[in-house]
Amino acid sequence: MTFRRFVATLLEVERASSRIAMVKMLAEAFRELPPEEVPLAVMLLQGRVAPEFEGLEFGVAEKEAAKALALALGRDEFEVLQAVKARGDIGAYAREALPEQGGGLTVKQVYDELRAIAEDSGKGSQLRKRERLARLLAAASPEEAAVILRTVTGRLRLGVGDATVLEALALAFLGDRGKKPLLERAYNLTSDLAYVARLVLEGEEALRRVKLEVGKPVRMMLAERLPDPERIMEKLGPHYAEHKYDGERVQVHFDGERFWVYSRRLENITHQYPDLLEALREVQREPFIVEAEAVVVDPLTGEMRPFQNVLNRKVKHLTPELLEKYPVKGFVFEILFQAGEALIDRPYSERRERLERWFRPHERLELSSKRFIETTEELVRFFDASIEAGCEGLVCKKPDGEYEAGKRGFKWVKYKRGIAGKLSDTLDLVIVGAWLGRGRRAGSYGSLLAAVYNPDEDRFETLTKVGSGFSDEDLNEVLPRRLEPYRREARHPRVWSLLAPDVWFEPALVVEVEAQEITLSPNHTCAFGVVQEGRGLALRFPRFVRYRDDKSPEEATTTREVVEMYRNQWA
Ligand code: ATP
Repeated sequence: MTFRRFVATLLEVERASSRIAMVKMLAEAFRELPPEEVPLAVMLLQGRVAPEFEGLEFGVAEKEAAKALALALGRDEFEVLQAVKARGDIGAYAREALPEQGGGLTVKQVYDELRAIAEDSGKGSQLRKRERLARLLAAASPEEAAVILRTVTGRLRLGVGDATVLEALALAFLGDRGKKPLLERAYNLTSDLAYVARLVLEGEEALRRVKLEVGKPVRMMLAERLPDPERIMEKLGPHYAEHKYDGERVQVHFDGERFWVYSRRLENITHQYPDLLEALREVQREPFIVEAEAVVVDPLTGEMRPFQNVLNRKVKHLTPELLEKYPVKGFVFEILFQAGEALIDRPYSERRERLERWFRPHERLELSSKRFIETTEELVRFFDASIEAGCEGLVCKKPDGEYEAGKRGFKWVKYKRGIAGKLSDTLDLVIVGAWLGRGRRAGSYGSLLAAVYNPDEDRFETLTKVGSGFSDEDLNEVLPRRLEPYRREARHPRVWSLLAPDVWFEPALVVEVEAQEITLSPNHTCAFGVVQEGRGLALRFPRFVRYRDDKSPEEATTTREVVEMYRNQWA
């Protein structure tokens, strides 16, 4: 397929009015592509040339891209830079400035060139990248050049979710959108959409055979919530409870030589934990995949410090001073691979046994504290002990539950402390729109429109307006800066809203919000018609707590969770 045709599809997808329409357009385009180009197209759709966990970035700033464009146009650099600045968008400027030309490029050619640009590094790479990009632009049509430039500068945001791509692949090659779960399973085990695309081309059998691999992140299993110990006992029966540590969840892979650490969002954060890896290297020699909560401890007393402390490690260059000031301890709670075997289909009790046998003590490593629970009283006592120890509560685990990659289910149930007069848990919501501020807030945002995620429909449903809890700095500076890249003219096709805010955003930014209660509302679409006809659910007295950059929009609180919280709040 020509890259030109692919670009035309992207533009159509960007303007699609619904997600189903997106799925159909993508499926059609996938079918038209030669098979070897399908995985490449899947990556280009995400604006990348390798899965996110590989961390391969283009390293092309807008200024550099503008210089490449100047080279392609044979114009003065300074002049082009000024024009790009005035236009505000390099893609839009390229579309105007380039002559009607090109059209002969294939998807593969463009992918190969972009990949070469991303892979080039070290001395002189900036100039080589610029020249390569210029050659590509000179062969591209104006529309193609706009997409290429948006891609290399990290601005190609089509808002096509992973679920939409999987569904389109199922429709294109298995002839049935309903076969998406097969693809989902492969994706949950490997976190690599292009790899799944390759498998789907081989057929259903290949998808069924897929196994987790050391080095490729497994999408994490998540916990459901229940409001009180009685319900937990009812739901799980006798079970194991573990302390819920308040740090950063890490998935650590070791192939016998090399380590990888992945965050909840499956970003490669290996560089953040050199001390933890050193500890593991001292006590383990064989390949493994484990999960742990990395908690900052007080360097003097060894006491656990709250989550916010780990954020101090999220810097480009982690200095020895920072490592000393914010030492971490890993509380290991899962083992997914050991002794050459994938363990995720084994029951929790067996995995835990394997984990306990595998574990070797070290001052920076500890097993998560666990207890077998048979009565509500035992559960409450263990909960109190966890709070006393500086934890957030408990994660209760069903003894026969397998590790369900990428799913939130009742095999794990979290039990957190409730605060009087408030919902017992906060919600993680996606910002999809905003109203402009008045009075003291003139010139910035007055309130934001926040949504939950509905995985069954793969769409975002509004739950609340949120305007309180933000500092002046948030309102005047942080929010406008952080939301600007996601601004759009019209509602995003994956957002379902009955309200019309002044500004729309692509669902991207996730924030944690607390509230007093959940009420019925005719204005919000969360679980619309589920609890009562003609009404959705909404938050009363919502308040911003913090940014949740560790979550992708699809990891926000789900519609189903809000329904559960609504039903449980008077329990
Ligand atoms: P929260 O915001 O409540 O931490 P979450 O959405 O990040 O929730 P959940 O799966 O709902 O994640 O809750 C479980 C989380 O608790 C895990 O993601 C993990 O980071 C953390 N955790 C701490 N201790 C444990 C443990 N012993 N077992 C499992 N998870 C644990």
